[in-house]
Amino acid sequence: MEDFDAVVIGAGVAGCTMARLLAEKGKRVLVFEKTKRIGGQAADDYIDGRLTQLFGIHVLYGDSMEVKEFFERFAELQECKMISKCNIHGKVIDLPINFKTFEQYFDKETADKIKKELKTEFRDKKVSYSDIKNAGLECQTEIDDLLHFVYEEYSDKQWQEDAKSVSVIDRVKIIIGYAENYIDATYYYVPKDGFTKMFQKMVDHENIRIVLGEDGTKYVRTDDKKVSVFGKKVPVINTTRIDKFFQYKYDSLKYRSLDFEYKNVEDSLGCCAMHFPVNYDYIRVSDTGFLYGRDNQHNRVYEYPKLLERHDYKTYYTVSTSLYKERAATYGIWSLGYDRIYQIGRAAEYRHYTMFELVENCIKLAGEIK
Ligand SMILES: Cc1cc2nc3c(=O)[nH]c(=O)nc-3n(C[C@H](O)[C@H](O)[C@H](O)COP(=O)(O)OP(=O)(O)OC[C@H]3O[C@@H](n4cnc5c(N)ncnc54)[C@H](O)[C@@H]3O)c2cc1C
Repeated sequence: MEDFDAVVIGAGVAGCTMARLLAEKGKRVLVFEKTKRIGGQAADDYIDGRLTQLFGIHVLYGDSMEVKEFFERFAELQECKMISKCNIHGKVIDLPINFKTFEQYFDKETADKIKKELKTEFRDKKVSYSDIKNAGLECQTEIDDLLHFVYEEYSDKQWQEDAKSVSVIDRVKIIIGYAENYIDATYYYVPKDGFTKMFQKMVDHENIRIVLGEDGTKYVRTDDKKVSVFGKKVPVINTTRIDKFFQYKYDSLKYRSLDFEYKNVEDSLGCCAMHFPVNYDYIRVSDTGFLYGRDNQHNRVYEYPKLLERHDYKTYYTVSTSLYKERAATYGIWSLGYDRIYQIGRAAEYRHYTMFELVENCIKLAGEIK
């Protein structure tokens, strides 16, 4: 364990990207990954010969050409569309909420009234849940009925928190008009041969050594505001939960997790992801075959929400209420007191990230590390 001069903890999007960028700067990078596979939440694998996104549907979307070109170095990218739907007591509607959703959910007269009023009030903008909740519209009661399922019941099932207190809720906008894709972005891609293959190629570099099945945090010493690994003073890039990294110094942060169940089937789900805010124990079902447009490759991945236990590492979601955001900020400030500890990634920074945003920030961070 002598031949390294940077350590990365976790081999998800952030870990693999940081390892690659540092390796290209000439650093010998030692990566610890707790599980037996790389790719983190974005990993996929073949189940009975069918490509399956193991931890829920994942699409590369964003606007940065630099990031797109970075991914292209490691994978052939295939254009795709993220089609999402929601099942409310058996009624299937489009997500994100747009004019078509109102037509699917309400009778024609009500839908027309809602569309007209929203158009007058907001023109062609995209508006948030909070914007609409506070708008005092004539058709407020009808709209609130739909928002109740799509946002409030969903938040309760996914995070066991009130929708208003989970700040991520305002990220998924309501579209005043008709739209097909989930979020506006210049680029919408999946790696043609899957995410895991892309990450494998990313870390395939003579300066990168990956140790699988190892909790990296146990090798990091943070005594007297100095950081070392196996006695060597090297930069440490942590991409895993920050509360555990600092031995819960300021108590635990709240993360939500998911259990997954896999089935290969012959029929299409008719969308990439179907949300179930009510009924059933699962909250979402996805079909990787639909996303990739592969007709004989359909499958179902069922996502079951659950609370993450203190020492667990499957940090799928942060719970961004003010209490936990403030606690996470305290951890972030504590971390800044160390010269050579860098926190990046969803669980380490305790924030929502798309993969595009994450890689963009990795590129910036790698530029700063000496
Ligand atoms: C259901 C779902 C769908 C999503 N869909 C999209 C999408 O369509 N598009 C998009 O851009 N983003 C999407 N995201 C977000 C995206 O998955 C994340 O932003 C991204 O994967 C985060 O990468 P990361 O490296 O920060 O974390 P992770 O992917 O969680 O990677 C962290 C890695 O560290 C490992 N680890 C944890 N603890 C330790 C330890 N102590 N020692 C060593 N290793 C450890 C973990 O096993 C994991 O491999 C989605 C997220 C979820 C949950």
